[in-house]
Amino acid sequence: MENAEFRKQAHLIVDWIADYLADPSIYPVKSKAKPGEIISNLPDFPPEIEESMDQIFEDFNKLIIPGITHWQSPNFYAYFPANSSYPSVLAEMLTAALGTQCMKWETSPAAAELEECVVNWMKKMTGIPENFHGVIQDSASSATLVAILSAREKSSHFSINDQGFNSQNFRVYCSSEAHSSVEKAVKIAGIGKNNLVKIPVDNEFRLLPEKLIEAIETDLKNNLKPLCVIAALGTTSSTAIDPLKSIASICERYKIWLHVDAAYAGSALILPEYRWMIEGIEQIDSIVFNPHKWLFTNFDCSLYFVKDLPALLNTFSILPEYLRTSNQGKVNDYCDWGIPLGRRFRALKLWFVIRNFGTSGLQKKIRHHIKLANEFMSWILEDGRFEIMAPLTLNLICFRYNPGNMSEEKLNELNENLLFRINIKGKIYLSHTKLNGKYTLRIVIGQTSVEKKHIEKSWRNILECLAEYENIQ
Ligand SMILES: *Cc1c(COP(=O)(O)O)cnc(C)c1O
Repeated sequence: MENAEFRKQAHLIVDWIADYLADPSIYPVKSKAKPGEIISNLPDFPPEIEESMDQIFEDFNKLIIPGITHWQSPNFYAYFPANSSYPSVLAEMLTAALGTQCMKWETSPAAAELEECVVNWMKKMTGIPENFHGVIQDSASSATLVAILSAREKSSHFSINDQGFNSQNFRVYCSSEAHSSVEKAVKIAGIGKNNLVKIPVDNEFRLLPEKLIEAIETDLKNNLKPLCVIAALGTTSSTAIDPLKSIASICERYKIWLHVDAAYAGSALILPEYRWMIEGIEQIDSIVFNPHKWLFTNFDCSLYFVKDLPALLNTFSILPEYLRTSNQGKVNDYCDWGIPLGRRFRALKLWFVIRNFGTSGLQKKIRHHIKLANEFMSWILEDGRFEIMAPLTLNLICFRYNPGNMSEEKLNELNENLLFRINIKGKIYLSHTKLNGKYTLRIVIGQTSVEKKHIEKSWRNILECLAEYENIQ
């Protein structure tokens, strides 16, 4: 492709993007593609000769878009959002154009120093103390793995990195509601899934500190070594907030690494009225949260903050001759702050977002989402036929249809069918979880462009699906 052609195509694509983001709700929010349907329309062999952008782009519209689930649609309420915004998309265009590989300071000094700047800004915005060191990772899963590996190395005096495992009998603790990434990290870190202790929760799905103490005491009696606790600020099923202060003092007493998984809820820390969630933060060792979930910075962008920087660097830094630079030790070489060597320039989009919204603009949006969620919950309660399954802590409402006089089994079946009906229509997209074995519908109101008119329509849609379902019963 020649530069003139690139310019022409880039303008066309920008126009497409602007149209798309103006109203992604013209598409069915959840793709209706069947397994294998998309690939069956793609050629088995790559093209031998060049194809024009016009052809390629036509196929993008014809073959790819039908298999896309529209995460930027205001009708997307499933999982947790991976929301985005105009400044973020603009920055990603520049990131792609620069195509820098930001492994070391020298490979793009501005990328490293902008990263340092934005993670420091984020500390001020969220109340994470100044003595923490921040870095951008690809995902919360990686960040939690980084935390567990750092804890493992610090605890073993950095010997496992050198010699491998030698029956250290490590134990890791999290609540029974913690995210699956904890189990994955424990497996990868060589600790073993059987050494992940799931601590029971209270009736609001928060870790019970006294049960944590019990588990630690039992393990100590059995000559097992408590290594790390992962506290959840905002569980994935119901955004339950573990009691950080109590957990932190337990970890301090037993000298256990405390990592905080605030992947979703961390964005709400920019609101002073939610800072209570991190009471006790001075005593923790590390925390992760994802601006790519609820801070309008498109996937991927995950912030990891750690107190003991030497422990992090001693765990991950590795220096073959071909990576040696003259600035060694004087600058931040972020490849030593995590798992991959190669790193995207993720700081740019966060910088664009923070500047273009301003802190107050970001706060306004998050508060707006929380307000909409409270309104939505009030409609569910007013209706009388539904049950709220977990406290509303932020903007995730857990609910189910429960007209009374039905067995739990029947209720599970009914709500599963109801969700299927809602999603197959393609007007809105919700997801589910199980809380205490009960099938629960989850609606998260956190899309960048979601407004009251969208949630009103969504509520009507849910009621219509319910009426249809009851009619055929
Ligand atoms: C989404 C989520 C994760 C995983 O995040 P990734 O960035 O996709 O790895 C971990 N923990 C919690 C609580 C989450 O909600």
